Amino acid sequence: MTRYEPVESPDSTTTFPYHDLTPPEPVDVYEAREVVRRYLPRTPLVKSEMLSAETGANVYLKREDTLPTGAFKVRGGVTLGHRLSEEFREAGLIAASTGNHGQSVAYAGREFDVPVTVAVPADPNPEKVAAMERFGAEVVAIGADYDEAREWAEGRAASEGLRYVHSANEPDLVAGVATAGLEVLETLPAVDRVVCPVGGGSGAAGYCLTVGAIGGADIVGVQSVAADATYRAYHEGHLDPVDSAMTEAEGISSRAPFALTVEVLRDRLDDMITVPEESIWEGVADLLTDERIVAEGASAAAIAAVRSMDDVAGENVVVPITGRNLSTEKLRNALSPA
Ligand SMILES: *Cc1c(COP(=O)(O)O)cnc(C)c1O
Repeated sequence: MTRYEPVESPDSTTTFPYHDLTPPEPVDVYEAREVVRRYLPRTPLVKSEMLSAETGANVYLKREDTLPTGAFKVRGGVTLGHRLSEEFREAGLIAASTGNHGQSVAYAGREFDVPVTVAVPADPNPEKVAAMERFGAEVVAIGADYDEAREWAEGRAASEGLRYVHSANEPDLVAGVATAGLEVLETLPAVDRVVCPVGGGSGAAGYCLTVGAIGGADIVGVQSVAADATYRAYHEGHLDPVDSAMTEAEGISSRAPFALTVEVLRDRLDDMITVPEESIWEGVADLLTDERIVAEGASAAAIAAVRSMDDVAGENVVVPITGRNLSTEKLRNALSPA
């Protein structure tokens, strides 16, 4: 067994020698498509009458919440798992996650018979932890927030010879999640704009490489004002972490921007905006009340962004419903705000 030590990283996270920071190209997404279609169903693209009437645009929801883990990230997990080098199949994978990245890696571990450890922050979303354990992963609750859990996982990877699955500096994850964009193009070639929530930026990077690069649509990224590390990295051209990421939408809560995805976003994303935290939870409530969709705060951030745009009338706009793994407590709070 080879133990790898961390190498110099252009961002504030830890990377290992096996982390290739070269962004994937559209052709890599077509290759990933062949893998993803073998393991996962295609997700529906459904027009939202509520949002279309409200904005004057044709707003389509890409229902990534219908994937077996309830979130888009599993497209990346199966792509990485499928391509995993032989040397790691026995030792296994380790990841840090607030939930959906961990579920994606856990799902891949079960599919490809590779052991998986996931580090989550103390006080994690209990439903997400249960799901990871159901997929057979060992879940370790450690650290005050995501970034502390991440540092623990990085140390463990080095000491135990595990393959550290970074949440963004992984070309296979980005190419895998980008397959959603190819599906969108096949169903609706005339997309004008995609409005996508951004945490580490793999989802938005995927739409840039497909609906943007191939389909010519504008791709707009969205963060919460309370957690804007990637927003700053995109606009200010650096990879500095922020001091805190206070959003309750854990899918888009990261203090650190990531080198690979920020490179794609700087190159191909048309704009990045922030939305107020309250508008996210209004979005969660409205999606449930009017569309009967249970969506995470992260997805609702993109809904809030579309609602704030005054120039979308007449356009074909796609919003990915990136995940449905909202804790029952957050759902309750969104329905009856204090
Ligand atoms: C991870 C996640 C996001 C953000 O995706 P990134 O690729 O990290 O930008 C958005 N929504 C949900 C539900 C997620 O799990």
